[in-house]
Amino acid sequence: METIELDGAQGEGGGQILRSALTLAMITGRPFRIARIRARRSRPGLLRQHLTAVGAAAEICGARVTGAEPGSQSLHFVPGPVRGGDYRFAVGTAGSCTLVLQTVLPALWHADGPSTLAVTGGTHNPAAPPADFLVRAWLPLVRRMGAHTEIELVRHGFYPAGGGELRARVAPSRLVPLALTERGRLVALRAEALVAGVPTRVAQRELEQLSRTFPQIDGRVRELPQREGPGNAVMIEAEHEHVTELFTGFGEKGRLAERVAAAAADEAAGYLAGGAAVGEHLADQLVLPLALAGGGRFTATACSSHLTTNLAVIGRFMEGAPGVERADGGYLVSL
Ligand code: ATP
Repeated sequence: METIELDGAQGEGGGQILRSALTLAMITGRPFRIARIRARRSRPGLLRQHLTAVGAAAEICGARVTGAEPGSQSLHFVPGPVRGGDYRFAVGTAGSCTLVLQTVLPALWHADGPSTLAVTGGTHNPAAPPADFLVRAWLPLVRRMGAHTEIELVRHGFYPAGGGELRARVAPSRLVPLALTERGRLVALRAEALVAGVPTRVAQRELEQLSRTFPQIDGRVRELPQREGPGNAVMIEAEHEHVTELFTGFGEKGRLAERVAAAAADEAAGYLAGGAAVGEHLADQLVLPLALAGGGRFTATACSSHLTTNLAVIGRFMEGAPGVERADGGYLVSL
C-alpha cells in the first residue's frame, strides 16, 4: 500500500497530528511517514507521551516502526492487523495517559476481539484532556455513537510527579453517525476542586472564586490521598440535555488559586453564552469518531487550529473527511 507522507509542521504543528495518524493508520492499514514532528512546539520531536503512543500503537497492531526515539522528528509506521488483548502502557513521566488512551481506543473498536487497557502517567495535565473530561464529556458521546468502551480513573496523576492510572475495557464496535446540533436546556452546573497533598484552603478559594461568576454553582472540594499529589485542578461541569461539557483550571506552584479558577470560569462562561453543542476541545476530539462513523454532525462554539489540522490529517487517510463551516453564532462540523 502507498505510504502517506505527512508534514508534522502543518497547521497546529503539535502532537495530535502524529496521534491521529497512528490511529488512522491502524484502522485503515495504510502506512505513513511523518517529518518535522511537533515542529511548532518549543521542544520539537517525540517526548515520552508521544513515544508511548507510538509504542502502544505498534504493540496492538504489530507495526514495523523506524524513528521511535526520544527527540526524533521523523517516523515511519507500517501497521499490521489490530489485535484485541490485555495491554499495559506506561508513559513513565507525567505525560498525558488520556492522549495515549485516545490514540489506541478507536483502533481497538476495529480489533478482532475485546481488550483491556491500563495506562499510567499524568491524568490531569495542562494542554491535554483531563481524565474527567474524557470520562464525563467525550466518552458519553462516543458511547452514543456505538463505541463499547468503559473508562475508569484508578489513580490521579498530576504534573510533574505523574503516577496516575487509567483503565479501559473495549469491545469491537461499529460506530453510527452522531446528530448533535442542539445542546438542550441546562440540567446542572457543578464544580469540583481537587487537591492532593495541597492545602484544602486552595480548593475552597477556587470554589469561592467560581461562585463570583456562577452564584448558583453546586461546588464541592475533593481531597485525594496525599500520595496522588502534589496536585490541584478545578473543574466546571455543564450538563445539558444532550451533552455534558467540562472546563478545567490547572493549579501550579506560584499561581494564585483565584487565577486558576477564573481561567476555568471564563472558558465555561464563554461556552454558556453561546448556543453550539460542544466547546473547542470536544470539537477537535470528536471529528475522528465522526469520520469513522462515516457521517454525522455537531455544532461547535469555536473552530481551533487543532480542529482544522485534525480534519486535514483525516482527509489524508480517508475518503470523505468531515468538513467545517460557519453556522449561526458558531460552527457546524458535518460529514
Ligand atoms: P504537543 O502539541 O506539545 O505535542 P500534545 O501532544 O499534548 O502537545 P496537542 O496537539 O497540543 O498535543 O493536542 C492536545 C489535545 O488536548 C487536543 O485534542 C486538545 O483539544 C486537548 N485539550 C487541551 N486542553 C484541554 C482541556 N482543558 N480540556 C480538554 N481537552 C483539552
